[in-house]
Amino acid sequence: MTGAAKSAARSKSEAKAKIVRAPAFAYRRTAATAPLTLFCEKTNLQALAERHGTPLYVYSSGAIRDRLHAYERAFRLVPHTLCYSVKANSTLEILRQVAGQKAGFDVVSGGELERVLRVKPRSATSIVFSGVGKNVQEMELALKSGILLFNIESASELRALATTARRLKKKASIAIRVNPDVSAVTHPYISTGLHQHKFGVPIPEAQMLYAEAAKESNLKVSGVSVHIGSQITDVGSFKDALERVAELVRELRRAGHDIRYVDAGGGLGIPYQSTGEPFAKQVAAYAKAVLEPLRGLDIHLLLEPGRSIVGPAGVLLTRILYRKTNNSKRFLIVDAAMNDLLRPSLYGAHHEIVPVKHFGARSSGQTLSGDTEVTDVVGPICETGDFLARDRELPVMQEGDLLAILDTGAYGSVLGSNYNTRGRPAEMLVEGARSRIIRRRESVRDQMRLEV
Ligand code: PLP
Repeated sequence: MTGAAKSAARSKSEAKAKIVRAPAFAYRRTAATAPLTLFCEKTNLQALAERHGTPLYVYSSGAIRDRLHAYERAFRLVPHTLCYSVKANSTLEILRQVAGQKAGFDVVSGGELERVLRVKPRSATSIVFSGVGKNVQEMELALKSGILLFNIESASELRALATTARRLKKKASIAIRVNPDVSAVTHPYISTGLHQHKFGVPIPEAQMLYAEAAKESNLKVSGVSVHIGSQITDVGSFKDALERVAELVRELRRAGHDIRYVDAGGGLGIPYQSTGEPFAKQVAAYAKAVLEPLRGLDIHLLLEPGRSIVGPAGVLLTRILYRKTNNSKRFLIVDAAMNDLLRPSLYGAHHEIVPVKHFGARSSGQTLSGDTEVTDVVGPICETGDFLARDRELPVMQEGDLLAILDTGAYGSVLGSNYNTRGRPAEMLVEGARSRIIRRRESVRDQMRLEV
C-alpha cells in the first residue's frame, strides 16, 4: 500500500479510549520503545499467532479460575453447586479447568455428557441434564452414569424417562423446568422464559406433572428448575423468575413433594461493549437477585453459568489478509470467518476488536490513540452475512496485521462449522507465561475422514 493510499484510508478522528479487558488480556511493551502488544496473562499474543497461525482461539486459565471463584464467593453462604454449562465451551481442556475448581456440569446432550465423563469419570453426581429433547439413548447413558438431576421439559419427556428408568431398573431424580413467563431483556433467539418459547412447562401444568411423577416408583421428585435465557444483564429478571419458582416450591411442599433442589439455570450476561463493573460486583448483584426470593426455603441451589465463566476468558486472533474499498465503504478481509465465530452473523452480536500490536502515535497504558477509520471486518466466506463487525471504528491497520476479537470464550468455538470446507481453528490455553495447544487446527483431511 502506498503512503498516499495509507493516509487516504485514515480518518481524521482520533481513537477513543479502548481499554482491553484486564487482567487476563492487557497491553504491555516488550521494550521501552516497542509498540504496545496484547498479552494473555504473561504470554505475548503476537508471538503465539506467529508460531501457531491464525485464526487461533486463546483462553486464559486464570480468568476461568477467577470467575468460578467469584461465583463461589458470592454464593458461599448457601448450600449450592456450580454446574458449568458445557454448551458455552465444551473443549475437553476447558472442562478439565472447570473440574479442577471442583465445579459440576450442566449438559444438554449425550455428547456433552460423554465429554464430561471423559474428563472426570466420577463426576456424575454433580451433573444436571437439561434440554428440551433428550432421546432414549441419552437418558440411558445418564441413568447408567447416575447423574444428579434430569431437568424435564414436557409430559412426554417425563413419561419417556419413567419408561427408560423402569426398563433399566434405575431411579431418576427429576426437576420440572418451569416456564415462568418472565421476559428477559436479551436477544430474542436466546430468551427462553416466555410461554411463546419452546422451553419449560407453564407452572400450572408443572404442578400436574409433579403429581404424575410422584406416582412413578422409578422417578424421584427432587427439584424445580428454571432458565429464562442467556446474556441477561438486568438481574431483576432473575428475581422475577425465582419469585415464581419459590412460590411453586412452597406449593409443592404443601402437596407433600420433597423438593430439595432449586436449579436457577444460567444466563448472567457479560459486558461485551465496555469493561463494565468488576465481575465480583456483578455476581454479587446476581446472587442477591437469586437468593432473596429463596430466603427461608432451605434448598440446595444449583447454578448453570456458561458465558459468564468462559466468555471473557477467550479471544480469537485473526490476521488481516486484504484491505479493500468499494467506493467509500471500507473492508478489512481477515482470515477468521462466520464458521469460526458465528455470533455476529447469528445474533448481530458485538465483539470488541483490538489490534494485537498497536503502533498508534500516542499509546499509553491501556489507552490506544492514533488515527482511526470506520470499516467492516469480514471473513473470506461467500456470504454477505459473513462479518465479524460492521461500521466499526478501529485504529488504521495494514495487511498482515493481527487483530484480537474479544470475549469469544463462550459460544465461539462450539458454534464453529466447516462451512466452505474451512477447518476449525486451533485452540490454546495460557497459564501465565506457558501456553499449549488444547485442540489442534482441523485439516481438510480431518474433515473428509467420515465421508465415503
Ligand atoms: N442452562 C441452560 C438450560 C441453558 O439453555 C443455557 C444457555 O442458554 C445455560 C444454562 C447457560 O447460559 P449462559 O451461558 O448464558 O450462562
